Amino acid sequence: MKLYNTATRQREEFIPNEPGKVSMYTCGPTVYHFAHIGNLRSYIMEDVLEKYFRYVGYDVTRVMNITDVGHLSSDADEGEDKMLKGAKRENKSVMEIAKFYTDAFFSDCAKLNIKTPDVVEPATGCIDEFIKVIEGLIEKGYAYLAGGNVYFDTSKLEKYYIFNDFKEEDLAVGVREGVEEDSNKKNKNDFVLWFTKSKFEDQALKWESPWGVGYPGWHIECSCISMKHLGDKLDIHCGGIDNAFPHHTNEIAQSEAYIGHKWCNYWFHVLHLNTNSGKMSKSTGEFLTVSLLESKGYDPMEYRFFCMQSHYRKNLVFSYENLDNAKISYNKLIARIATLKEGGEVDAEAFATLKARFTDAMDNDLNTSLAVTALYDVLKAKTNDATKLALFADFDRVLSLDLIGHASVLRSKLEEEAKKANAAPEGVSPELAAEVEALIEERKEAKKAKNYARADEIRKYLSDKGITLIDSSAGTTYKLS
Ligand SMILES: [Zn+2]
Repeated sequence: MKLYNTATRQREEFIPNEPGKVSMYTCGPTVYHFAHIGNLRSYIMEDVLEKYFRYVGYDVTRVMNITDVGHLSSDADEGEDKMLKGAKRENKSVMEIAKFYTDAFFSDCAKLNIKTPDVVEPATGCIDEFIKVIEGLIEKGYAYLAGGNVYFDTSKLEKYYIFNDFKEEDLAVGVREGVEEDSNKKNKNDFVLWFTKSKFEDQALKWESPWGVGYPGWHIECSCISMKHLGDKLDIHCGGIDNAFPHHTNEIAQSEAYIGHKWCNYWFHVLHLNTNSGKMSKSTGEFLTVSLLESKGYDPMEYRFFCMQSHYRKNLVFSYENLDNAKISYNKLIARIATLKEGGEVDAEAFATLKARFTDAMDNDLNTSLAVTALYDVLKAKTNDATKLALFADFDRVLSLDLIGHASVLRSKLEEEAKKANAAPEGVSPELAAEVEALIEERKEAKKAKNYARADEIRKYLSDKGITLIDSSAGTTYKLS
């Protein structure tokens, strides 16, 4: 399986540290607001990656943090604490906010068929681990105290920037933009590991530490939570591309400084979901959530399908027009699957051939848009329905588009409608209705056997009783003459 590795800027064969096992880390949500569908695009694509690892037989352990403390509006020690901002806005305590939005996040994930990681760890549960690692970094000379805070010293590293083709200066400007310089820092990219003196004084959650009462920086969370559960050699780290710098860059800096060797081999970054006016954010335009899409009549599976149609390393443009197109395609696909008949033997050879198209697509840097094409290949294939249904169920272990479930709901709905359409017209007694149904069935058989005389006889007999038969492509119904 080939995956693009942001750290090396190339597609590489994926080879885990331990054969057959994958350790996977995902940056979790900051739980002070609803996730927008742009955030959720990353989680959807990471979910596909995890499920594909499992599909090809890896034993996966996936860990995700919940940022419920210490994430500032900006990366530097400026701006308001996001958690506190949420709490003030909604007149709740910080922990109430964290609980509410954590639940909301997992509820969105459930709607989108995103599996919950094996380990979900809130930052507030790991304060001792953060302190231990920060103490280690100070001991090793990678961190220093200044103005009451503990900072990571980026000048101690041979190479700080990992993920870019840009000049260091350009990136540094990006961080500084609109942000007051923190005069405690020795180097412009140094970042806070532990705060005791923040520029906003009313941080709600604080803990004792060797450096005074305070709270951890954001970056240290992910390093510690990953190492706590997955050890000091991580196979793959995932996140949205906006986390590559400075968040993931800082994670690498502090993790490798602490453990003294390479930490993570593969970096998987999902590109942005943009709107026509640019990057999707909480501050501009309509705030797009799963619930909002539902209120507008979209099924969350239609959004997941929309994401599948595009490669994770391409920016995806969201518009209702684009989502409508995905909705139409998804429902057409479901309608065609709903016509497939259950039962019968799976053709093993056809199954293997069509499955190979799917795995070829996925092995090629998780090409979900080609994997979607493989779904249509199954529909067009000259093989029986049992084989097709088995393939849809198989691919859906990874794509999680609920193809079989939605198709079966649609089939029941259509059967229900057909039944209603065939119900006895008003004024027809149940006995007469039963007789008419039986005769309609007999007439159908007679026609099939080319016994047109009997078919006409039945029509005439019913006509004399005041019943008119109506033949259509859907079958035969009747009314009172
Ligand atoms: Zn993270």
